[in-house]
Amino acid sequence: MNILLLGSGGREHAFAWKIVNSQKCSQLFVAPGNAGTAQIAKNVSLSITDFHAISDFVLENNIDMVVVGPEEPLVKGIVDFFQSNPQISTIPIIGPSEEGARLEGSKDFSKQFMERNNIPTAASATFTKETIEDAYQFIDQQSIPVVLKADGLAAGKGVLICQSHQEAKDSLKQMLIDNMFGEASSKVVIEQFLDGIELSVFVATDGKSYKILPEAKDYKRIGEGDSGLNTGGMGAVSPVPFADADFMKKVEDRVVIPTVKGLEKENIKYTGFLFIGLMNIGGEPFVIEYNVRMGDPETQAVLPRIKSDFVDLLHAMGTMQLEKYTIELESFTTTTVVIVAGGYPEAYRKGDKIIGLENAGKDNKALVFHAGTKLGSEGEVLTNGGRVMAITGIGTNVEFALENAYKNVAEICWDDLYFRKDIGQDILKLIK
Ligand code: AMP
Repeated sequence: MNILLLGSGGREHAFAWKIVNSQKCSQLFVAPGNAGTAQIAKNVSLSITDFHAISDFVLENNIDMVVVGPEEPLVKGIVDFFQSNPQISTIPIIGPSEEGARLEGSKDFSKQFMERNNIPTAASATFTKETIEDAYQFIDQQSIPVVLKADGLAAGKGVLICQSHQEAKDSLKQMLIDNMFGEASSKVVIEQFLDGIELSVFVATDGKSYKILPEAKDYKRIGEGDSGLNTGGMGAVSPVPFADADFMKKVEDRVVIPTVKGLEKENIKYTGFLFIGLMNIGGEPFVIEYNVRMGDPETQAVLPRIKSDFVDLLHAMGTMQLEKYTIELESFTTTTVVIVAGGYPEAYRKGDKIIGLENAGKDNKALVFHAGTKLGSEGEVLTNGGRVMAITGIGTNVEFALENAYKNVAEICWDDLYFRKDIGQDILKLIK
């Protein structure tokens, strides 16, 4: 099969690595890709939101399947574009329809979907600038902390956890009136704070059938001990010890099944990955959010744990054959450590030369996934983003996996790199 993968992050390097390791893949193209995907596939310079250019490329290169990594093309309707164009409508494309992508593209839509389908989540209400006075009253009735969420996509920054009623009202005004997140905060969801342990559950679905993939815990903050600013993600661990069979059964019965059935019942086409952000409160699952694609860096921890053929999984999703697919998992633990450019998530430098890559992962105990990297004019690898790469350690338990991750992180060097040294420490404490 000739496959086109859209995206350029660590998630896409992990996808690319799984795809090229399958016998079913003849050629993989990644648009636009990074220096890591360039080593194992053919990078093509296409914009992931230029659907006409993507469609031309698909036809010219006899592409048999398209896999969409990030949310932006999904929210902008790439799947509907493909399916309404007779020349490409029969080519499987892995991702939800524009309507399905609203589960991520609009927090208000996703809260209403959960309410309609009796999926456990925090109690909430949605307001606009016309109803701001009602919102102030609503805030006064909430216990503290209270959570404000911009309705639209805000690059992972649209959630504010407010520690007083006044702070919540001031922030709400900034969001609704002062356009703090632009159009994304023209509607705001105000919700109850959920106090528990967070984890991410991943589901592959063809719209009827589903497979639950390995779960993961991620580390969002820049600083150790979960301090400082939010980032795209600084690390991940899979499996998560508190996601035991009992808890996962509740997740399946109360969240996964009602979600897949709800989409089907509401006639929302959904072929793709679904990320469910959950809070475990005393052993009970509550949904914090849906994402309509795999997470980054969770993918770099989750995909190595899938033993069965990944192209078969993608193809089964894209051709509505998922029911017949059996997913086999590896028993080992994976721990992913993200290395970022100094200064990230605020201002950082690009273009630094990365040294030591040839030694990282040489011990076969870790995988190296590029994210913000590019090839320089002499074939050298340069930093090209905030999150530069992710190293996934593999081990028989969390301790060994972490040891393998950090040993290989230490092989890599550039001016001013930074990584968290405490990934997985909370889990180690929990199981000790
Ligand atoms: P989201 O963009 O919805 O994933 O929110 C970003 C982060 O904010 C989540 O990963 C949680 O850590 C936190 N968060 C969001 N909603 C809540 C909530 N209702 N209670 C507690 N924490 C929350």
